[in-house]
Amino acid sequence: MSEIRIIPIGSGSTGNCFYIEIGGYRFLIDMGIGYKKVRDALTMHDCCLEEVDGIFVTHGHYDHVKAAIPISNHVRCKVYANKSVMYSIRECKAERMVLNMYEDIGLFPGLTVRMFKVPHDFAYTCGYTFAAADRKIAYVTDCGRMNDRILQELAGADVTIIESNHDVEMLKNGPYPRQLQARIRSEAGHLSNDECAEAIAFLKEKGTSHFLLAHLSLQNNTPEIAFETVRKRISDPDIDLYVCPAEGNNLLIY
Ligand SMILES: [Zn+2]
Ligand SMILES: [Zn+2]
Repeated sequence: MSEIRIIPIGSGSTGNCFYIEIGGYRFLIDMGIGYKKVRDALTMHDCCLEEVDGIFVTHGHYDHVKAAIPISNHVRCKVYANKSVMYSIRECKAERMVLNMYEDIGLFPGLTVRMFKVPHDFAYTCGYTFAAADRKIAYVTDCGRMNDRILQELAGADVTIIESNHDVEMLKNGPYPRQLQARIRSEAGHLSNDECAEAIAFLKEKGTSHFLLAHLSLQNNTPEIAFETVRKRISDPDIDLYVCPAEGNNLLIY
């Protein structure tokens, strides 16, 4: 079995950027972490931006694209996004390419990338799957509601990076004004720990055993609460859970 490598460089409202390796390719997902931090996280594991084969953008919120210009200045690859998201990265120096939702994208021999729609308050927010002959990675954050269509796309991944944004009680009793709380809880908001746990319960039955909990709120969640909420729902010891830090340079190998 070929190796999957993931570096969660940044996750959450302060900035999002993941480095993944699958089927011999190297990719970034989102560019919401500053260039130097991304460079340093990669250097630590003998990787570099110049060797990245593609950058995939989920949506145009600031925490996902704020470093698009400096990062894209240091790559040789293309930046991929759907048409609606492209406007947010229009100043990227790297060549940009529009992708369509729900199409098997065969840009890289031996690997299929798929983009799928995720409900959120940025039009045409998307998640991705990357499938090599024998391995699959799925990525979904900034997801107001999980639905059957998304679960179908995620199913069968070896590793799934999935949003576990907030604890519903912490959000309710926290400092956020009612209107913002309602937005976060809405279909256009973010996935709660409970909703994440529910999705994982389904996905583990479809063969996934590694889950990276991502995009945790700093105000309305803690790594411990997110982990415990999912662990309580999924007692199966064979299921491996990892909570992505807001910023980090850990290399995860699967
Ligand atoms: Zn976000
Ligand atoms: Zn967002």
